[in-house]
Amino acid sequence: MDVTLSNDPGHIVEADRAHIWHHMTQHKPYDSGVDPRIIVEGKGMKVWDIKGKEHLDAVSGGVWTVNVGYGRERIGKAIADQVTKMCFFGGTAGTIPGAHFAEMLIDKMPGLDRVYYANSGSEANEKAFKMVRQISHKHYGGKKSKILYRERDYHGTTIACLSAGGQEERNAQYGPFTPDFIAVPHCLEYRSQDGTSGEAYAAASIKAIEDVILREGADTIGSICLEPITAGGGIIVPPVGYWDGVQELCSKYNILLHIDEVVCGVGRTGTWFGYQQFGVKPDIVTMAKGVASGYAAISCCVTTNAVFDQFKDDTDKLSMFRDISTFGGCTGGPAAAIENMLIIEEEDLRGNSVRTGEHLENNLNALMEKHKWIGDVRGMGLFAGAELVADRGSKEPVDEKLVAAIVADCMNQGVIIGATNKSLPGFNNTLMFAPALIATPDDIDHVTDAVDQAITRVLG
Ligand code: PLP
Repeated sequence: MDVTLSNDPGHIVEADRAHIWHHMTQHKPYDSGVDPRIIVEGKGMKVWDIKGKEHLDAVSGGVWTVNVGYGRERIGKAIADQVTKMCFFGGTAGTIPGAHFAEMLIDKMPGLDRVYYANSGSEANEKAFKMVRQISHKHYGGKKSKILYRERDYHGTTIACLSAGGQEERNAQYGPFTPDFIAVPHCLEYRSQDGTSGEAYAAASIKAIEDVILREGADTIGSICLEPITAGGGIIVPPVGYWDGVQELCSKYNILLHIDEVVCGVGRTGTWFGYQQFGVKPDIVTMAKGVASGYAAISCCVTTNAVFDQFKDDTDKLSMFRDISTFGGCTGGPAAAIENMLIIEEEDLRGNSVRTGEHLENNLNALMEKHKWIGDVRGMGLFAGAELVADRGSKEPVDEKLVAAIVADCMNQGVIIGATNKSLPGFNNTLMFAPALIATPDDIDHVTDAVDQAITRVLG
């Protein structure tokens, strides 16, 4: 072999610069002296980069994934034991960890019954869309094939998921898209489209969805796909009454409710799943990130038996769900997911999300009192956003370059936070926090102190 595989930091940086195409990255600066960032180790809420710099990670692995924190030996051991015994069997067969994790998951999701395994959030959502389309063909003669999605929500990176994506900057230049995905308006009360607030805003938002249903025709709509709390689109918590309204619309017009829990799931907001905060009863739930906290790739599309049973018909060979995912047969994912869920339970990390989440919210509210640039603070549990505005009256967003400068300043201070940077043109202005569910009040103080300093330095 002519390759050295040297662990020398300089070698790794140059190998990365020469060969890696990073996600969501403009590579031009790497041609002119900027080094790619390489993370080499993690423990608890901290990570270390290849230059030895320590960072407190307030976004759980950059993309809100490592819910139980880094360095969990028992998850590593569970994966190693399982894959040594039986690493993979795909196609139609099941596996022992697959069965065990499904039992555990369904126990946390009353009203849901079936788990379909895949590898990423996008893939789980694709499964859900395919189920809806197949139900449309099998049971409605091809009608009820349309899928509603909401402005500012994000459901993944494939073409069908982008077709269901409400974030313009993610979609630009990737069309043409899959037909029959129809947008409904967002529900960000802070930017209420008609000036109403609270329950009146919720009612107006529901009416806006109903208007779309009536315009398109209820008999053409199969499902509505929503994040419980819009994540990357700006940490948008719907107002009281919104979810009751969604549920009523789904019953009234016979529309399946598909909730995308890829971010909010597995304890992030304090309940096992975000939808459980709002008392809704979904027909389909998709999840990924926190399911195994990034220790292994796994995602799930979970359905009711009412959905599942529509695929049972041995008189019609096209009836079964004719879908497959090679790596849905990996056992490392469910083995990791089992330990991940046990840790969340044993360490009461959902309780910690609520308690420490309150601390985070209080700190951000205190920053809002201090800095006129923060127009709104919102979130739930250890999941929060602070929207930055140039002027509180007009709510004009702070320029996204300045928002990026605040994130970069925090990074220089050794604190990793996020920001909407791929949402809507002009609205990439919300700082985002989703630390591991093990975060302590001291960790949160460390993070918000860094943000305080960064805002002062960048915005004054
Ligand atoms: N759904 C939501 C709400 C997400 O935030 C994401 C990714 O960030 C996805 C789906 C897609 O997940 P993945 O990147 O694992 O495909």
